[in-house]
Amino acid sequence: MNTKIWDHFIQSLKDSMNDMAFAYVEDMVLMRMSDTQWDVSLSDMAKFNYVQSFLSERISEVLQKVLEEEKIEGHIELNYHLAGAQLQNQNRSVSGMLPFNDGYGVRDSSAIVEEKAAFVASPRRVLSENSAEPFIASVELRKASNLTERFSFENFVLGNSNDVAYAAAKAVAANPGSGDCNPLFIYGGVGLGKTHLMQAIGNEIIETSPLRVRYMTSEDFANDYIDAIQAKSVPSWRARMRDSYDVLLIDDIQFIAGKVETQKEFFNTFNYLVSANKQIVLTSDKHPSEIAELEERMRSRFGGGGTFDIQLPDYETRMAILNKKARADGVYLPNDVAAYIASKVATNVRDLEGCLNRIMTTARVRGGITLELAQRIIDPIYQTRNVMVGVDAVINCVCKYFGISSEEILGKSRAKPFAYPRQIAMYLARSHTTLSYPDLGRAFGKDHTTVLHGVQRIMDDLAKKDQSLQNDIKRLEDQLLK
Ligand code: ADP
Ligand code: MG
Repeated sequence: MNTKIWDHFIQSLKDSMNDMAFAYVEDMVLMRMSDTQWDVSLSDMAKFNYVQSFLSERISEVLQKVLEEEKIEGHIELNYHLAGAQLQNQNRSVSGMLPFNDGYGVRDSSAIVEEKAAFVASPRRVLSENSAEPFIASVELRKASNLTERFSFENFVLGNSNDVAYAAAKAVAANPGSGDCNPLFIYGGVGLGKTHLMQAIGNEIIETSPLRVRYMTSEDFANDYIDAIQAKSVPSWRARMRDSYDVLLIDDIQFIAGKVETQKEFFNTFNYLVSANKQIVLTSDKHPSEIAELEERMRSRFGGGGTFDIQLPDYETRMAILNKKARADGVYLPNDVAAYIASKVATNVRDLEGCLNRIMTTARVRGGITLELAQRIIDPIYQTRNVMVGVDAVINCVCKYFGISSEEILGKSRAKPFAYPRQIAMYLARSHTTLSYPDLGRAFGKDHTTVLHGVQRIMDDLAKKDQSLQNDIKRLEDQLLK
């Protein structure tokens, strides 16, 4: 057997794959060749992992075809090595583990099988254990991705409400762009874990492959597009959107509904990427068929991959989420307290977390989490939900407290004297009215994500023990709920 076959093989690989996949194998080097085994090395850990996990079957098929074309009978097994790791492996073989009787030292094939199994089971562990150097590529890929690291599969608690969507997300992360689920469409109410699951896909891909991932909201997309129009740079922006990413995650796609030009632009990008086998993941608060003002062709394309919904978590899942979060924060959460929170706060996971944060923060000052403390914090919010105040009452109360007008609180200025009271009003309205985020969006003349971010901001600051904020909220609540 000679190296002509190798060249034929590489050429066939090139012909049978798209450029993105071929990039993983093009600098593959043939180390040794026998009638039954070829040893090849890959230049870095990312390629080594990716090829073994996702491409090996396809590569073997191509090799078999090449053998047939070359009229060579039999089967050749490919053994992948990591460049730089060869010496060590050869030493291992030489010292009594010689697996094949063809006269040269290669490593035990069972070691490869084991390693592969370990990699599939736990990519992070193997990456850090196996690579001599830190996984440099992922640092840059991470920066460019816009992902938040804590949204991982490991941190995601499973329950009846989300396990199917989770399984689909895992499958996409293991095999991005494979076509079965492109786009993956995840939908469901506010605060139920859509963004978390979507970003978990991105985080997993970044850590296990050199694929370029990008997370953005559909509003980011719309704003970037408008900026490009204003800067007269649409063609280069468009080219960047199409050629810079292998996996595109677009959150809250419902916001492009009604924006005719942005929709069109997005649809073209979408089609371009999907036809190049790049993975797209979309989230929305509704199923594609229910998003008003979305063009029909988009509805059918968005829903044409796989659509999976996330529902409200049940009581057991809420308990599991609370316990996991407390554990992650190193806080002891007594069971009766967890049970009390889980039974009262059934709106969504975000509220559940917000509530636990408030309890943990207060407990730090007051010394320990007790049922009584939890009740004191939860009851005003979740028991008075029936004796709710109106959003106008909240806005009036906050305006009076801060000495600003309702035009100012409902206006667009992002200066702190207006933005801070506005966010507090959003938070209080969310806590003490029955209105949904979209309702609140209308009441504040803002998008529902703006309200959501405002509420989130206040919750985050409360969790950070912002004393003056705590005082403001307490006084406002005293006035509002008296
Ligand atoms: P959505 O995008 O659906 O509005 P998010 O993904 O932002 O919701 O989730 C809200 C919060 O709840 C986040 O902090 C997220 O980490 C958390 N969360 C949601 N679902 C789960 C879950 N199943 N397990 C753990 N945390 C969750
Ligand atoms: Mg979200």
